[in-house]
Amino acid sequence: MSEMEEKPKNQKRKKLSLDPRLSEYRGIWVFIEQEEAKVHPVGWELLGKARILAKFLEVDVGAVVFGGNQAVVDTISKDAVAYGADIVYQVVDPSLADYRSDPFTECLVQLVKKYKPEILLLGATSLSRDLASSVATFLETGLTADCTELTIDLENRSLEATRPTFGGSLLCTILTLNYRPQMATVRPGVFPIPLPNTDRKGTIIREQLQLNEANFITKVLGFIPDPYKASEKLSRADVVIGGGRGLKQASHFSLLRELAMLLGGEVGGTRPVVQAGWLEAERQIGQTGKTIRPKVYIAVGISGAVQHRVGIEKAGMIVAINNDPNAPIFDYADIGIVGDFLEIIPAMIRVVKNKISSTYDCLKKQGVGKAEEL
Ligand code: FAD
Repeated sequence: MSEMEEKPKNQKRKKLSLDPRLSEYRGIWVFIEQEEAKVHPVGWELLGKARILAKFLEVDVGAVVFGGNQAVVDTISKDAVAYGADIVYQVVDPSLADYRSDPFTECLVQLVKKYKPEILLLGATSLSRDLASSVATFLETGLTADCTELTIDLENRSLEATRPTFGGSLLCTILTLNYRPQMATVRPGVFPIPLPNTDRKGTIIREQLQLNEANFITKVLGFIPDPYKASEKLSRADVVIGGGRGLKQASHFSLLRELAMLLGGEVGGTRPVVQAGWLEAERQIGQTGKTIRPKVYIAVGISGAVQHRVGIEKAGMIVAINNDPNAPIFDYADIGIVGDFLEIIPAMIRVVKNKISSTYDCLKKQGVGKAEEL
């Protein structure tokens, strides 16, 4: 996204005077979500966006990292600086080894009260949605959930948090004018991950908070991995093939899976196919599903309703296959193919297979080792 596009909108808005107590709040914070030492990429996406917003406000970007292991937290903190944080606020405590609302809320609330950031951003993931709502309640401040754009209203030194509303048919921009910090959650995949710069220098603050495990009513008894975790790849895939109700039956998804496998991509779909049980809920794309930004999105048997569109509009190229030439998806697809997917997808599979086998033959002539890498 260019700097031009990032400029705050020049809207005429009444200038409101901020309560002097709240004027003390300065800086933009990003909560860095990690589980089992693995950072959710939305944290890096938000640091990239926070850097852009911080330029307008002329403030520092802070990252908040919690965990139960100092070495893990140190590694993540270093990465946070590389992705754009100026200051990293760390809290390491055995109570923070696994996510639980109560200790994480207590820590984040204490940090915010002490350091007073004016903006606090979190990913719109299951974990951070839970944390954000709990923290906002304790801080008695405003939280805008599931944002798709963030800008700054310089007149009021306020965050303009934009999110879909009325079933995705409208976008509304929400400002928290009289409370601080201004909180927002943003869906994974909405903003690009910035290029990390390992030469960046940042300050690490190791915060010692007195957490009393006896005060926390939830206990972690064990960890059961999420069987759908692999579908996290959907938000990151370069190629996504989406199936809609036009596929007619669940078994037709095997064609989409075969094409996706050949292209190194992932399969997703619309809400009706998820509701019909043809596809796992984790693979739903759109307003109530995932936001994706692949290089290529191939929509198969999908009409292109606005609730689906909001999840795919950041794709580099949209290819639509639909047997109805008047399907709305053709209004915004880059390439439209009018026809029956049962003819088009097998033809695409044949072309890709032929291409792979001719490349294989070519490499084989140059040396078996290279061909086997294919
Ligand atoms: P349809 O609209 O039925 O389209 C099927 C298409 O397949 C048609 O265009 C048809 O021409 C084509 N077709 C039929 N046969 C063939 C064939 N043989 N070959 C090629 N094409 C064929 N939807 C989402 O996707 N994601 C969301 O997150 C989401 N959230 C929602 C939230 C709310 C609050 C509401 C009210 C709705 C939401 N929806 C969502 C539903 C959305 O409004 C649409 O109903 C849905 O996207 C339509 O799905 P579809 O394109 O699969 O089905």
